[in-house]
Amino acid sequence: MKVPFAREMLVAGGGIGGLAAALACHRAGWRARVFERAETFAEVGAGLQLGPNATRVLQGWGLSEALQAVAYFPESLSVRDAAGHRLLARLPLGAPVAARYGAPYATLHRADLHALLLQAVRATGETVLHTATVAGPIGGAGDTVGLATRSGDSHTVCEGDALVVADGLWSRLRGQALSDATPPRATGQFAWRALIDRAGLPASLRAASDGVQVWLGPRQHVVAYPVRRGELLNLVVLAEAVPGVAAHAPPEDWNADAAPGEVAQVLAGAHASLRALADAAPHWRRWMLHDRAPVSGASQLARGRVALLGDAAHPMLPYLAQGAAMALEDAAELQRTLAMDIDDVRLSLARYALHRWERVGRVQARARRQADIFHATGPLRWGRDAALRLLGRRLLDQAWLWKV
Ligand SMILES: Cc1cc2nc3c(=O)[nH]c(=O)nc-3n(C[C@H](O)[C@H](O)[C@H](O)COP(=O)(O)OP(=O)(O)OC[C@H]3O[C@@H](n4cnc5c(N)ncnc54)[C@H](O)[C@@H]3O)c2cc1C
Repeated sequence: MKVPFAREMLVAGGGIGGLAAALACHRAGWRARVFERAETFAEVGAGLQLGPNATRVLQGWGLSEALQAVAYFPESLSVRDAAGHRLLARLPLGAPVAARYGAPYATLHRADLHALLLQAVRATGETVLHTATVAGPIGGAGDTVGLATRSGDSHTVCEGDALVVADGLWSRLRGQALSDATPPRATGQFAWRALIDRAGLPASLRAASDGVQVWLGPRQHVVAYPVRRGELLNLVVLAEAVPGVAAHAPPEDWNADAAPGEVAQVLAGAHASLRALADAAPHWRRWMLHDRAPVSGASQLARGRVALLGDAAHPMLPYLAQGAAMALEDAAELQRTLAMDIDDVRLSLARYALHRWERVGRVQARARRQADIFHATGPLRWGRDAALRLLGRRLLDQAWLWKV
């Protein structure tokens, strides 16, 4: 049933990407209806870094204060070698980055980002939010798009002017929209994550946990940064296949418990201070990293009345910390496009795809390359460390990524 409103966007998935898309649609004068399969709108707990390219989008939506209330704003990014704990390079973040790029570098709990987007979407007063509703398959023809939805035993077909597919890495709708049933690529790499109450850390570890810290080791690296105004420390260990470790992680589960001692085994060769930080974590969760080949054309982001956004469109390795940032950028572009009020919605979505595909493809490719650099071994590793010592600031300052 079509609602009497100027134009209506159906949004499949209510994660960071889906909510950002709904907000973007509202700001462009469209009404959005979001379908989320989970019982409640919520995010699983882990941290996110948001570079200025992402916080700029939030600023544009008037969410700076909301971000300020929940985020942490690191003063620096420090890169060390994991075995010796020696500083290889340091980039001031804080005021210099905010001045250079017009928006801050922030770290935050992903649940806090999700909650602030949800609050903004609710505040529109017009966006319709459906939980416990599985979206798909896609139908419709002519001047509408149809989306079958299932909530419990109730089946409905909703109609809208267009559909945003934002159902994440394991998207069921992507295959139908693009006629491409290939699953995401299992990389064989794993991430372990933990949240630590910083107030409970010994003083020496607490002081060392300021800012964004990265430790590089052969075939692995560790990232730590405070979230939630600095109250919690987000600690992530990323490693390529470690013999005997994590061989059986269920691919779609973000929340699997790590086996006892697993992280200690992965970090066996790391410096004592890094191992002490990892030992302070009360609980570790683990998941396997997946991605897809970089987007190579606009037709992979939109077809007809259907646009893809976020991880459903361009899942990437977390090595550039840009997955959620790209979803926010996608939504900002969608807003620009829809606000032009082009008569033919299919042309609007084609324009969205044209403006996004090269950027997201490049970021996906650079995230893969970053994995090789971060996890380098042998001569490549020595060369990397030497380059970081000599040119650290220039190498860490991501102008191509963070600029407007
Ligand atoms: C280790 C790691 C670290 C990361 N660090 C960063 C970082 O520092 N910075 C950053 O920007 N990004 C980071 N990312 C990436 C970021 O988390 C993702 O890119 C982002 O959350 C994707 O959002 P999304 O909304 O597209 O997908 P998702 O968050 O997966 O949301 C999809 C939603 O769709 C729902 N859904 C699925 N199927 C259906 C259906 N059929 N019907 C209805 N609903 C459905 C799901 O329940 C979910 O709520 C990291 C990722 C990893 C793995």
